Amino acid sequence: MSSKTRQITQSSKLAGVRYDVRGPILQEAERLERDGERILKLNIGNPAPFGFEAPPEIVEALRAALPHAQGYTDSRGILPAREAVANHYADVGVADVSPDDVYLGNGVSELISLVLQALVSRGDEILVPAPDYPLWTAQVTLQGGRAVHYPCDESNGWMPNLAEIEALITPKTTAIVLINPNNPTGAVYSPELVRGFAALAERHGLVLMADEIYDRILYDGATHEHAALHVTETLCLTFSGLSKAQRVAGYRAGWVIASGDRERAADFLEGLTLLANMRMCSNAPAQYAIPVALEIESSIDALCAPGGRLLEQRNLAHRLLTEIPGVTCELPGGAMYLFPRLDPERYPIEDDQAFVINLLRATRVLVTNGRGFNLPTPDHLRFVTLPEVAVLEEAIGRIAEYLGTVRVP
Ligand code: PLP
Repeated sequence: MSSKTRQITQSSKLAGVRYDVRGPILQEAERLERDGERILKLNIGNPAPFGFEAPPEIVEALRAALPHAQGYTDSRGILPAREAVANHYADVGVADVSPDDVYLGNGVSELISLVLQALVSRGDEILVPAPDYPLWTAQVTLQGGRAVHYPCDESNGWMPNLAEIEALITPKTTAIVLINPNNPTGAVYSPELVRGFAALAERHGLVLMADEIYDRILYDGATHEHAALHVTETLCLTFSGLSKAQRVAGYRAGWVIASGDRERAADFLEGLTLLANMRMCSNAPAQYAIPVALEIESSIDALCAPGGRLLEQRNLAHRLLTEIPGVTCELPGGAMYLFPRLDPERYPIEDDQAFVINLLRATRVLVTNGRGFNLPTPDHLRFVTLPEVAVLEEAIGRIAEYLGTVRVP
């Protein structure tokens, strides 16, 4: 083959990297939309397009920053934003965090990428929950590591079991990922469980990575426990940002904080700083929204309280789904998703991605397949609970009708 006709192929680093949340299912939905179809989208946790707009002060802070945020910033982020983040965690009791321990990024997504690039060497094993927010598995794989999945037990409210996690630790294990509240299950971990994760990480000298982006989206009196409260003898990295509770996912404003034993992690942190430098800085105007967002009373608590839109929608969607024969669903204590199970006896699904594409073609309702979240079995779907009640009713009604046609009698 002449060099002129040689195929241009993707890097071998991408082998095994999957991110189905925005993959072929979404492409099919976009194709249908181009053909003029109206799709009911229950697939992406993006609050603003569903009418969950940000508090106006946050929007104003970004607008006001535009004239003076034209240049690059310090690569970890502007000092007032890093101070605000450090103070926010100090206020909830995370000891000894300074602005120097805070890195701002273009959403948590970019920071997951930077942190794993800085940490993972070829063959390293990272413990990741199954199901997980799939960016974790995808990024571990992209960086040449191996995501070792620890199961979360649906029959126990999707809680992981610490003894099972410990049994998966090998000399190659370098970190444990904790997603609390969890996407896609919505499980909120008890303080005892979070303490157990911290103790496990400390016992084995592992980095504890706590993805806490849903820490403010809690229902029915659930409380959130920051992992960083319990880590002193190893490195804890806490990820969060403005995409969910503050509803400005498009601003791409996130942070990661290093706490615990930073001295032992000095070399890693130097690598993280190098990578942060190499990408200059995160979106500068959005950095200015961070101090304001952390200062004002966010209306998120009201949205999650009785009478609040998020809670009402979660309740309705959960009731409608669990009324469908053969569908069961743990009631999530947090986040903005439902992760129902379709009884395999009744709905014998072999390829859940194909199932979801067929469901989309038949009903014009877009959801995500459970395997897209690294669940090993093809018997779950993920729904976002962001659409308003009338849309949820219509969407789940159509799904119920469709399931009536595919089930085994
Ligand atoms: N972590 C979890 C658990 C998520 O669900 C998401 C987005 O859905 C992210 C991280 C990425 O968020 P960001 O918008 O800050 O990149």
